[in-house]
Amino acid sequence: MPVGTQGAVKALRNEAVEELGARMILGNTYHLYLRPGHELIRKLGGLHKFMSWNGAILTDSGGYQVFSLSELRQVTDDGVRFRSHLDGSEHLLTPEKAVEIQLALGSDIAMVLDECIETPAPRDKAEAALKRTTEWAKRARSYFQQRPQRNGELEQWQFGIVQGATFADLRRDSARQLLEIDFPGYAVGGLAVGEPHEVTCEMADEVTTLLPKERPRYLMGVGRPEQIADYVALGIDMMDCVLPTRAARHACIYTSEGRVLIKNARYAQDQKPLDPNCTCSVCRRYTRAYLRHLFAAGELPRGYRVWESSEILVRRSLALRGRSGINMRSQRAGRLRRIAQRIHLAGNARE
Ligand SMILES: [Zn+2]
Repeated sequence: MPVGTQGAVKALRNEAVEELGARMILGNTYHLYLRPGHELIRKLGGLHKFMSWNGAILTDSGGYQVFSLSELRQVTDDGVRFRSHLDGSEHLLTPEKAVEIQLALGSDIAMVLDECIETPAPRDKAEAALKRTTEWAKRARSYFQQRPQRNGELEQWQFGIVQGATFADLRRDSARQLLEIDFPGYAVGGLAVGEPHEVTCEMADEVTTLLPKERPRYLMGVGRPEQIADYVALGIDMMDCVLPTRAARHACIYTSEGRVLIKNARYAQDQKPLDPNCTCSVCRRYTRAYLRHLFAAGELPRGYRVWESSEILVRRSLALRGRSGINMRSQRAGRLRRIAQRIHLAGNARE
């Protein structure tokens, strides 16, 4: 899923995101709650209508941004008290409030509020956060179930989030506790936050062996193109990551031949498309030399769009190839991994 933080995939028009084939985007509850406000979006017919997006939308609980962006965080069993990074105003985000905001936004998939802790975390801290996350998940689920008609005809899925830091037994406990609460889909949170890739995979593996195959399994906040194959092989169906748009704004583009740092002088006279193996409108139309010029000439908004378009496309095609491999994990994932490896090796060679 491309990440549409504030109701837009950064620097991309919805038309471009559609052209690239994205079926679902992610909206950040924290940002939309603070600005323009969930009640305003509810009044204007929900987030789909507000941003004119016909595809699906997944919203997070807002918890991750509260923990990473805001000040004055006080976590109690009740919820998280925080100060807005915009105007300093004080707010309390509870499991119920996170449900309420996402119902107002009218997303297709809503996430429960969980407690995010920094890693590496000591075991006692991870245990306490896990306990609280399960309690909050219970409250969020029962609040959600009591108000199914909150937004008229709105149909929304609510996902639970497995926590447990980098402790395998805690990860398994968390998954079992959420299975008891019973969600239509499950996410794995708190990973890919600085631990080695092998550990991320190990933890995801612990969890996906317990979670039902017929329900979506979503690994939050991953991943690098060269790692997508690994997650697919572990049974992950959904991922989101700001990397494609963020790297592209720094002129780093993932192509099927590796990363291209388009600012580099070597591209000044390069007549090739960004990615010779790509058929998107950017690669069909523009040369590397022209894209490099856009960056050098300060035509950034335009430069962003073309780069990000290319990048999202490459990542999407990787993920699509991965999706077809979900039911035939080992065989297909092997092929995906070879593609990813090629990207990875080529990328390193260019740096
Ligand atoms: Zn392209």
